[in-house]
Amino acid sequence: MRIVGLTGGIGSGKSTVSNLFKAHAIPVVDADVVARNVLKKGTGGWRKVVAAFGDEILLASGEVDRPKLGQIVFSDPDKRQLLNRLLAPYISSGIFLEVFKLWMKGCKIIVLDVPLLFEAKMDKWTKPIIVVWADPETQLQRLMARDGTTVEEAESRINAQMPLDLKRTKADIVIDNSGSLDDLHERFRDVLVHVRKPLTWTEFGLSR
Ligand code: ATP
Repeated sequence: MRIVGLTGGIGSGKSTVSNLFKAHAIPVVDADVVARNVLKKGTGGWRKVVAAFGDEILLASGEVDRPKLGQIVFSDPDKRQLLNRLLAPYISSGIFLEVFKLWMKGCKIIVLDVPLLFEAKMDKWTKPIIVVWADPETQLQRLMARDGTTVEEAESRINAQMPLDLKRTKADIVIDNSGSLDDLHERFRDVLVHVRKPLTWTEFGLSR
């Protein structure tokens, strides 16, 4: 089975590319969906996070108030690191469970859509690694338009991540998504051809 890694920066277009894979019948494991599940009330991840951040991050229903937790961690790098450290094992096992289910179904190619692919060191398990890149101004404008945030908020979210230009250097394939959706679709066609090729022996050995 080929496990393709898909990552990028916030608002660079990962979900847009992920939807293109799905539209071509290639299943995608979405780390954000897994991350939401591991924070559900009563789960191990939920207990760890409530113990570390206190009851004030909970809604009356007992579920985590995600926007509130998001605000706390985006304005404090230590807390962000703590949250990532607490949830990482739950997210990794959740992702591998989804991969296992798809493997059991006989899927030959799957895509792991993981915003923190490099930070979580999950890049070792994927080939090729695709980084969706957009030039900084385009990334900022799209993020603000999508989330209705101010420039300052959008910039601080972008700056909270590993620089997109650094991620780009670690990629096997960079999809430049600075242009129109038509441009993206055209670039994606080449990526699809590459991804559908059988693994070479070198790739099979994940030699990196
Ligand atoms: P996040 O990390 O926050 O989940 P993302 O990398 O998944 O972000 P998307 O949600 O796919 O990014 O894209 C960000 C926004 O930019 C969305 O509103 C999307 O519709 C828009 N967008 C993506 N690609 C293009 C494009 N080529 N042209 C115009 N708009 C685009």
